[in-house]
This record gives sequence, structure tokens and C-alpha cells, in this order.
Amino acid sequence: MCVHAFPDSSPREEADAPRDVRPDALAIPSRASTPKGLRIGKTYSRLAAALWLRHVLLALAFLALAIPIPGNAASKDWGQDLPGIVRHIDAPALALTFDACGGAYDACIIDLLRRENIPATLFIASPWMRRHPDTLRELAADPLFEVAAHGLRHVPCSIDGKSAYGIRGTRSLAAAVKEAEGNVREIEAAIGRRPAWFRAGTAFYDAPAVDAIRALGLGIAGFSISGDGGALLPPDKVAERTLGARPGDVLLFHFNHPESGTCAGLKKALPLLKERGTSFVRLSDVPGAANPPE
Ligand SMILES: [Zn+2]
Repeated sequence: MCVHAFPDSSPREEADAPRDVRPDALAIPSRASTPKGLRIGKTYSRLAAALWLRHVLLALAFLALAIPIPGNAASKDWGQDLPGIVRHIDAPALALTFDACGGAYDACIIDLLRRENIPATLFIASPWMRRHPDTLRELAADPLFEVAAHGLRHVPCSIDGKSAYGIRGTRSLAAAVKEAEGNVREIEAAIGRRPAWFRAGTAFYDAPAVDAIRALGLGIAGFSISGDGGALLPPDKVAERTLGARPGDVLLFHFNHPESGTCAGLKKALPLLKERGTSFVRLSDVPGAANPPE
């Protein structure tokens, strides 16, 4: 594979190349003024340089193969939809989930959910809860919401430091467990209840991390619809994606970006969904949802 990647580095082509280049263009003396011994010396040094370059290119090719591709969702052991990750619920309802990764508080979304009386599951990362401790307690006291965990450092959960979206994941099984359990305990200490659900920062995992986190008794929440595209979509797109949901879908939004189009999009979509007779649930409202068939 590596050899085929560099067909142009054969000595024949390296030797042929200078024929088409005028000597003065290379800023070296012309052949007429160069002693024969010096010409032979130059030929050998060019050949050595070509071989050296080839070795460097081959070494770089091997190095590139050894580096994992960031966010490679196609891998069987690394991604957002591995066995054990809950992406649908077995219920005639939608599960709206909202992540608070860090940063600000989008109160517009919470006000909207309360006004429309729509239940939701809120995933709280430790960096966010340390910044908004009073808000977390207030949300936890509202029976409309289920508080879930979103990571101690808000990083992907990996046993060997795989990356997603440029964020380096945990580097050992123990660190992956700490990423979930550390955040869970911090939330439990703040609100007096142990969260039942977890979603990693970026929602990326490898298979051993999924198994270890589930062994903690936590359900792992994936998603079937990225409702706000990482809080980057304009309101119309958020509304379009939300209105496209079907019973059993788990929708992912963010409530830590008040500047985003998420709230405005939901303001359009949620009343229409209610008019259609759509039901909404928190993840723990669905019996057995944390243990999907594999
Ligand atoms: Zn997040």
C-alpha cells in the first residue's frame, strides 16, 4: 500500500527529471564548465538525496497509518452508535434531550418547555454545573425535568485517547469510568439524587468504555436526531429537524448557547408537534430503555 502510494519516487523518474530543466534554472554551473569528477560526484549526491527523500516519505506514510482518524464514526469500536448506546426509545413518544456542556445558560429553552409543559432530559457536564449551581438545583426541583450526567471534563470516553471533533478522549479505562462516575457523584452531591443516564462530551465512545459505563448502572444516551447541529443551526433548520421526528426518536439539543438558533427553532416546532398530538417523555419514563437489545 505504501509503495503504491509513491509510484513517482522510483530512481528512473528521479534520473529522468533533470533532462527537462535548464542547468541555469537550478543555479548550478553548466556541464561545459564542470570537471568530470565533480559531475559524477553531483550525480551520486542527487541519487543519495532521492533515496533519502524516498525513505522520509515512506516513514511519513507509516506514521500517518499509525495515527487514528479523529471522529471516525465508521469504526466498529469507536463512534456514537455502538451496541449499548440508546438512540431510540420503545415508546409512542419523543424524548427531547438537552446538553449543557459548559458556558452559558439558555433560559429561553427552559421557559419554553415549562410554558408548553413538555418534559425533557437535561445532560449536565461538571464545568457547566460549577458555573450555574443555583440553576442546576432549580432545574432538579422541577418534576418536568430529569437531570442526567454529561461528563466530568466533557470529553469523549476512550480507553486510549481517541479524539472526536478535535477533542482528545480519556486515555484509559479508569479515566473513562472517572469521566462518567466523577460527574455523576458531583451532580448527586448537588441535588441529592444519582442520575440514571449519561452522555459523554461529543457523544463518542469506544466499546470498552461503553461496557464499563453501563456496568456503573448508567444508561448511555445517544440520539437519533441532532436537532440543533451542535447549537450551530439557524431556527428554520432546528424547526425542520424537530418537526421531522417520529415516535421513538431521541432528539439532541443544547441549552448552553443562548446566542444559537435552538430556542427560536423550538418555538416554531414544539407547538406544532403538540397540535399533532405528539407525546414527550423523559428517558427514565420508559421502562427498560437503558438496556437496549443488542
Ligand atoms: Zn456536550
